[in-house]
Amino acid sequence: MSSLKFSILGGQNEIGGNKILLEYKTTKLMLDFGLSFSTYKKYFAEFLQPRKCNALLDWLEFGLLPQLNGIYRKDYCFHCNLKYPEKPFLDAVLLTHAHIDHSALIHFLRKDIPILCTQETFLILKALEETSTQTFMELTNLKKEFHLIRTKKSYKRLQGEEAKSPRKFLILKPYKKYQVKDMEIQALPVDHSLPGACAFIIYTDAGNVVYTGDLRFHGRRGELTKKFVERAKQANPKLMFCEGTRINENRNITEEEVERECERIISNTKNLVVVNYPLRDLDRLLTFFHIAKKSERKLVVNLKQAYLLKLFENFKNYPKLEEVAVYIDRKGWGLISDEFWVFLEGRGWIKGNELDEKQIKQDYYKWEREFFELENRVTYKDIRENPGDFILRCDNFELNELIDIKPKGGVYIRSMTEPFSDDMLIEERRVRNWLKHFNLLPIHQIHASGHANGIEIKGAIGEIQPEKLIPIHTEHPELFFQ
Ligand SMILES: [Zn+2]
Ligand SMILES: [Zn+2]
Repeated sequence: MSSLKFSILGGQNEIGGNKILLEYKTTKLMLDFGLSFSTYKKYFAEFLQPRKCNALLDWLEFGLLPQLNGIYRKDYCFHCNLKYPEKPFLDAVLLTHAHIDHSALIHFLRKDIPILCTQETFLILKALEETSTQTFMELTNLKKEFHLIRTKKSYKRLQGEEAKSPRKFLILKPYKKYQVKDMEIQALPVDHSLPGACAFIIYTDAGNVVYTGDLRFHGRRGELTKKFVERAKQANPKLMFCEGTRINENRNITEEEVERECERIISNTKNLVVVNYPLRDLDRLLTFFHIAKKSERKLVVNLKQAYLLKLFENFKNYPKLEEVAVYIDRKGWGLISDEFWVFLEGRGWIKGNELDEKQIKQDYYKWEREFFELENRVTYKDIRENPGDFILRCDNFELNELIDIKPKGGVYIRSMTEPFSDDMLIEERRVRNWLKHFNLLPIHQIHASGHANGIEIKGAIGEIQPEKLIPIHTEHPELFFQ
């Protein structure tokens, strides 16, 4: 009788970079295919990045991609003169959620390998792909590289829409079972810090497998995680891959506590409120949306978050785009107000906003331009004139907006993980300088983690009672067994 086999190609003894190969009979699945931040940061930085011209090789060099034949895209394999078997090595890749450390490396996969994920995960991948300026981000569509096509006189490089072809996605319905050759798979929604996260149960004749992905019980959807634990228990798993990001911690701040504490702090100021929270954490967006409503302010989101809200407009859990304010930042020539001037031949220097909107929009990507039509768009000037009317979401790389907004004091809330690495601490010092300059200190640190704590994780394992437990996504696997 065939047995179940697995190999962990990433995500063991580290947080993220999950890649688990699961085999039964002739069926091969990959559970997540994420980027290992720790390995990436060891070799690469903002100004030292893997080269497009080397396709797979820079990534293979440091083990960022596993050495497997038959999984990588054709254009890259041929360009690097690597083997490209006719049939793919994998039958499917299952994604638990759209965080980079679980999904980003699907860019490198051949397009005939089906990707199985929830609807929300697919939408976030699409948003990442369409709004990112990074190179290796072909998550839902592949763009053929290194191809020349004939023109009348010579050849041209294939690019743009002509080079594009969609990947094979299968959108999974929660709790529904899908047959993948000798295995049956089931996605079970769980609570995590971005929409659409799920765990998996994989059923085979040789026993069942549970994979948690990332999860928590203390967000807005803890009930889902409890239901997953219940179902996982019923499956009597032979094998369970369990995340343990916070296995060494035993406390939580809940999403409700974040909301209450931020509301209390915000109620103390009539001035501007600046917050920073993870771009794709729509539950946290909802938290600040609630607070904004209660404090008669408007939540101001950037164009990337506006794009995401638009994609999620059919999901009833999240605010509609019309209910927030959309911040149009100054780009390129920065002509969205009457304060910056431009030379127009025949007329001389005129105010930027006297130009035809078509001209102003030239500074923006195509996907950004549609937000100009919104009535609820705002610029730095609106916020400068009425700072007390807004809660402005501002990322660390958007702090230069403060130069235009000119806040006269106010409140700053950091609603994300506290800085822990050397790079983050350096960045933190820079952020503090900005906040000090604009009279926005102190930093109020208020955050609910996306991960369950050690007591909760051990409680779930105690319920599920797998025959074999494999800690993953953790720096402390030994603590699972103490
Ligand atoms: Zn993760
Ligand atoms: Zn995650």
